Amino acid sequence: MANQNYYKANLRDLTFLLFEQFKLDELLGKAPFANWGKDEVTAVLEEAYGWVQKHMGPYNASGDDEGCRLENGQVKTPAGFPAIWKALFEAGWRTLAVGEKHGGQAGPFTLAMLVEEFMCGSNTSFNMYPALTQGAADVILAFGTPEQHATYTPKLFDGTWAGTMCLTEPHAGSDVGSASTIATKRADGKYDIRGTKIFISGGDHDMTPNIVHMVLARTPDAPAGTKGLSLFIVPKVRPDGTSNDVAVAGIEHKMGIKASATAQLVFGDNGNCIGELVGTQEQRGMSQMFHLMNYARIGVGIQSLALASSAYLNALSYAKDRKQGSSIKQWKDATAPRVPIIDHPDVRRMLLDMKARVEGIRALAVKLTMHLDRATASSDKTEIEYHQGQVDLLVPLLKAYGSDQGFQICATAIQVFGGAGFLKDWPVEQYCRDSKIFSIYEGTNHIQAMDLVGRKLMQRGGANVQAFGKDVGTFVAAHKEHAALKESIAVLAQAMEALTATGGKFMQWFGGGRMEMVPTAANRFLEMMSETVVGWLLLEQAVIAEAAAAKVGADHHDRAFYEGKIHAARFFALNVLPSVAAKAQMIAREDRSVLDIPVGGFAPE
Ligand SMILES: Cc1cc2nc3c(=O)[nH]c(=O)nc-3n(C[C@H](O)[C@H](O)[C@H](O)COP(=O)(O)OP(=O)(O)OC[C@H]3O[C@@H](n4cnc5c(N)ncnc54)[C@H](O)[C@@H]3O)c2cc1C
Repeated sequence: MANQNYYKANLRDLTFLLFEQFKLDELLGKAPFANWGKDEVTAVLEEAYGWVQKHMGPYNASGDDEGCRLENGQVKTPAGFPAIWKALFEAGWRTLAVGEKHGGQAGPFTLAMLVEEFMCGSNTSFNMYPALTQGAADVILAFGTPEQHATYTPKLFDGTWAGTMCLTEPHAGSDVGSASTIATKRADGKYDIRGTKIFISGGDHDMTPNIVHMVLARTPDAPAGTKGLSLFIVPKVRPDGTSNDVAVAGIEHKMGIKASATAQLVFGDNGNCIGELVGTQEQRGMSQMFHLMNYARIGVGIQSLALASSAYLNALSYAKDRKQGSSIKQWKDATAPRVPIIDHPDVRRMLLDMKARVEGIRALAVKLTMHLDRATASSDKTEIEYHQGQVDLLVPLLKAYGSDQGFQICATAIQVFGGAGFLKDWPVEQYCRDSKIFSIYEGTNHIQAMDLVGRKLMQRGGANVQAFGKDVGTFVAAHKEHAALKESIAVLAQAMEALTATGGKFMQWFGGGRMEMVPTAANRFLEMMSETVVGWLLLEQAVIAEAAAAKVGADHHDRAFYEGKIHAARFFALNVLPSVAAKAQMIAREDRSVLDIPVGGFAPE
């Protein structure tokens, strides 16, 4: 049974990002987005928002209450889910950015990701199923044979079948290379699959008659570690209609995303599980999975943003409504009128902090997806390399900073509600529980931080990170005398300086054989870089908003929106961004406490 829908989004922020900050219109009306104009993009956003409010939002809390059940070896999803699945694919929302020859609408990836924000925010658990299905379709499309394209991708794109991503095993979590599921080649060229995968999202459900599992496994003679892994298509029902030997051993009982079935799958217990190698070459599994994971990590950043944003907007409307206490200006007068809590400076501090972080993370997300769209739209090799390089650099920031902050923002939303926020009567406690997983799956946030410092900083000989520094430097140089924002822009310049110096410290550690120092500071470095990006993009918004506010009249409906942008950027620059330099100082001290404390020193046995 459906219940109340609390999902809220701020559409004005989305159109500001698309058309005032990142100029999506420069790419529209010509290849590869020839069928798309500004009006179409705006109409899709409005329609998608209305659609999720009607179809997905009302089943978010009820899905959380009901959860998934395992009945006779089959997972049952909560009431309403199969109907949403059907309506979702009929409406075509999953194929906005898919090419026309695959039945899609060939729209910008940025638009698809903003629609994804609505989908995740209105019903995170439900959206896991179609999002992973799309991931499976994308990976088959990118690496599969023509026969595999024909057999699987149309049915995955149109929702006839669903898909999953099977990496994790009981002893292979972060250490994916320890996976021991075995794939043995058969005489017909297919493979016998045998092994157990755990924590598989959408591993079983009742929304489609078939589920296509993308399974990482190793052939018997493959080398150890990630290099030896191959990727296999293992459908629940084989293309000839016979059942495959894939059993659901159980589903997990979880803190959040309870309506997303997290299944333990046993492949080949009866010796009859048949899979196909993706493409034609073995031991390409990890690089193929990485292709999928890049998008999946962007997706997790969007999930985090979506819940944080709705948590913020719900807290905001509660704060305007709830009356408690009198104005601080009348604190001695017991008879003073009670005021809405949004009048209290500390509540305003929490709300502005949430607004700045939510809108800053959304700007980071759109910056990233616009780099992807610009790379897709360009035919110039240098330009493509630049844009792709920025995507590579920003993915771990969006995933890890987005998810760490997202959870904190949901917790702050509970604080704004006070005791009411702790109750199931309001959506923020579910948002908080649901959003904890985002820092864990798709590679824990430490894995993201190590990817950033160990791989991304040195990619293309450091050219990507240099181009990033140049972009920030260009902005600082252009606006450092800005009458209203120069103090904030000076803090951004200091943050960028501190970031560059800390990057040098990591190079010293790598070069000087002091690798053990790297993981002690990697998460902090990722946070420093993310805060610098968010600070930069918020200040860019403020510069645009300041000019735009001057053009609209004092009573124009956009006036307060633009003023809000300026205040959010200044708040972030003066209250959050200074911590980048402070963190740089902490890292420069090379504190070894975490390395040197003996295990027995944490607590007596
Ligand atoms: C709800 C849910 C849904 C999921 N969905 C899927 C799915 O669809 N498909 C799938 O394949 N998997 C899925 N997973 C699994 C998920 O990706 C893993 O939980 C995650 O990769 C972490 O692995 P782990 O749980 O084994 O933790 P561990 O790897 O045991 O990590 C525990 C802690 O140790 C740290 N750590 C581990 N190794 C290192 C290291 N080398 N250096 C430093 N620190 C380290 C981690 O950062 C973490 O803090 C899901 C998990 C959950 C809970």
